[in-house]
Amino acid sequence: MNDYTNHPLDWIDRELAALEQSGLGRRLVARQGPQAARVVIDGRELVNFGSNDYLALAADPRLATAAAEAAAREGWGSGASPLVSGRSTSHERLERRLAVFEGTEAALVFSSGFAANTGAIAALVGPGDAVFTDRKNHASLLDGCRLSRADVRVYPHADCRRLAELLERSAGKHRRRLIVTDSLFSMDGDLAPLDGLADLAERHDAMLMVDEAHATGVFGPSGRGVAEHLGVEDRVHVRMGTLSKALGCVGGFVAGSRRLIAWLVHRARPYVFSTAGPAASAAAAVAALDIVRHEPHRREGLLAHARHLREGLLEQGWNVGRSASQIIPVVVGRPDRAVALAAALRQQGLFVPAIRPPTVPQGESCLRISLTCGHGAEIIAGLTEHLRALRG
Ligand code: PMP
Repeated sequence: MNDYTNHPLDWIDRELAALEQSGLGRRLVARQGPQAARVVIDGRELVNFGSNDYLALAADPRLATAAAEAAAREGWGSGASPLVSGRSTSHERLERRLAVFEGTEAALVFSSGFAANTGAIAALVGPGDAVFTDRKNHASLLDGCRLSRADVRVYPHADCRRLAELLERSAGKHRRRLIVTDSLFSMDGDLAPLDGLADLAERHDAMLMVDEAHATGVFGPSGRGVAEHLGVEDRVHVRMGTLSKALGCVGGFVAGSRRLIAWLVHRARPYVFSTAGPAASAAAAVAALDIVRHEPHRREGLLAHARHLREGLLEQGWNVGRSASQIIPVVVGRPDRAVALAAALRQQGLFVPAIRPPTVPQGESCLRISLTCGHGAEIIAGLTEHLRALRG
């Protein structure tokens, strides 16, 4: 056979077949209708335990109205990067409101949380620097570390002792040092030891960046996140959050000092070289921040329900890891077992995604239950009962 009968992309078929065979094949689905506690997928209504819409704002009409009004006023597309002419009045208002919400001097909005993370990290450290990252940090943090071309040191999950050793070993060898961590880990649902990390940052003269993507709007007395919850906000130099989860919108942000934000405006490549998101999207996020401020019962109810569900699952003997939040993994180990459980729940009208490698490490495949404040007590009791039946 001569080479011309092969297509240069033939290798993809072989790789996809291998993924399929090891239980790691993926299939895209399209949700019909709004993102809410119940969703229609493949024509079937399912109770939705697979969204990050923790405060049930994604389909809130107040956000849609704010977006529609801004779109009518400012148009839809933003047409350029923020530094050129893409930054609208709504973006400016959102950045001001985010700084007030976060209690920081300034804030900067990116088109996604992923862009905020990669952009901020690569702006803060570079060749000759070191970045220290938790093994379970989100992919966007890890990609930011790699993009920065700083020396990347991965420490075991939440392990301050090991991190201390790595910091000591790098003393005097690097120009700048940055510690980065999720505040609420997206698959395990546990909280980072932010006080210990802040101690280490101070002792070793390092910067501390915290990704509050899953905690913004949920944790802390004002909903600012885990750093507020643990009382360490003043010790975190770079606070990152998303608009795309509890706030029900899309986009990411960094909040911090005026000089930090000024530096990111100059050096965060996804900010400088990518088109600004729609003004309408920024306007919806302003409306979401208002709701977070005025409706604390949403986050309080969510966390109370989560506690209740965790207790029920533990009683049944499931492994929920170290979850301390609205994200509750049911760890089952093998990917095919996770897929089988997800399929069984789906039969009962419940959508609970199976999470498999590479999203979680080998041997840690799980069902990832993600609660929103739109799940009432009855819905949660139903899930608990179905899982009891599956446990046998
Ligand atoms: N950080 C964490 C911890 C995340 O889980 C995610 C999204 N899953 C992001 C950042 C990226 O945020 P976005 O979806 O807004 O790009």
